[in-house]
Amino acid sequence: MPDHHSHVDGARVLADLHALRAIGAYKTGVHKPTFSEPHIRSLHWLTERLPEAGLTAEIDGIGNVLGTSSKPGPKLLAGSHLESQNYAGWLDGPLGVIYALEAARVINADPAAPGAIEVAAWCDEEGHFGSFLGSRSYIGGVTEADIDAARDRTGGRAMRDALREAGLAGRTRAVCERGRHIGYLEAHIEQGQTLEDSGLKIGVVTSIVGIWQYRITFTGEQNHAGTTRMADRKDAGLALARFCVAIDDRFPAHCGPRTVWTNGRIALDPGAPSIIPGSAEMLFQIRDDDPAVIARLEGLLRSMAVEVSAHGPCTVGVECIRTGAPAIMDASFQSAIEAASTAVACGKSIRMPSGAGHDAQVLATVMPAAMLFVPSIGGISHHWTENTEEADIVTGAEVYVDACRRLLRGSGHDGSR
Ligand SMILES: [Zn+2]
Repeated sequence: MPDHHSHVDGARVLADLHALRAIGAYKTGVHKPTFSEPHIRSLHWLTERLPEAGLTAEIDGIGNVLGTSSKPGPKLLAGSHLESQNYAGWLDGPLGVIYALEAARVINADPAAPGAIEVAAWCDEEGHFGSFLGSRSYIGGVTEADIDAARDRTGGRAMRDALREAGLAGRTRAVCERGRHIGYLEAHIEQGQTLEDSGLKIGVVTSIVGIWQYRITFTGEQNHAGTTRMADRKDAGLALARFCVAIDDRFPAHCGPRTVWTNGRIALDPGAPSIIPGSAEMLFQIRDDDPAVIARLEGLLRSMAVEVSAHGPCTVGVECIRTGAPAIMDASFQSAIEAASTAVACGKSIRMPSGAGHDAQVLATVMPAAMLFVPSIGGISHHWTENTEEADIVTGAEVYVDACRRLLRGSGHDGSR
């Protein structure tokens, strides 16, 4: 029997995912915001499973679950997250955690397999209290002051209070021991339709897009909506609307094949029906995996603002309020996932960027990191109807575990026969 043969127990993977789905169930999905009772219960559920995989489990001082191994040899860090968006799906996060658990159960107990899988469930990937707080804490990127300031964006609860109520106050936060891991592997549902539309089963993630955000402000003149003649107006709201349309007209000639842009929020000041807005503001976001494309589009945005301001009657200012370099996934890890797909999924894989953010982009700053996607039915996610065919979940687990074995053996190529 070839040594890459998978011993994944598909029924066990599905049973574990359904067990997590039952904790905080909402319709066919879950409602499991960070530090809610069902989220905490899910963390404890995982810590009770990890010893089955030969791992010592702990929940650290920011709510990360970590399973560490004393098996000699190389160690691969594997995981995802357990909390959900509000009233959302059952697979976003848990899929990657259960794949990691299954890989650990299969590989750590096998004396013939070199090395071990260490499992992580990163806290608050969904950003209820901040931005990737759990994984950023693990790489040393979160201060105590950051935690003091963090509040739940829905209910306003302070993170300190949430940690105390969860019994986690005063615990130390686990920090990555440099050099301990050969890298990090995360599986996730695609949350889009590329795999489903192409009939493929595995997405080999090439990069996680960077997100750039801008505050674009329009300054005109506030005045009476009844007495100010049309020709005399300096309507900042109208200038904003025209600018939005101009972006959609001009960006396509300068963007990349997968660039996306969104005007996510508009505010008019003072925002009353009988007052011409004196100022207006929009929050505008661009995502791409190529910083050169972003630079080009930002340049275009600024030159459009200069043109509009010169032409009048309103002036436009562009302020960059968030930059995020794209995370490039490790090339040899991508090869290992592709080789595993060839071995156990008839090669039904495709290389693709991730348009959504994931903890892997944080881990990628300190170690080689990679991701694989499984299909999402209808591309739906962040909604309780989110789902994946059970056969696809099992295929994904088999590819994942096979890729883990290849990575622990030392290269993405030595397993392909
Ligand atoms: Zn997720």
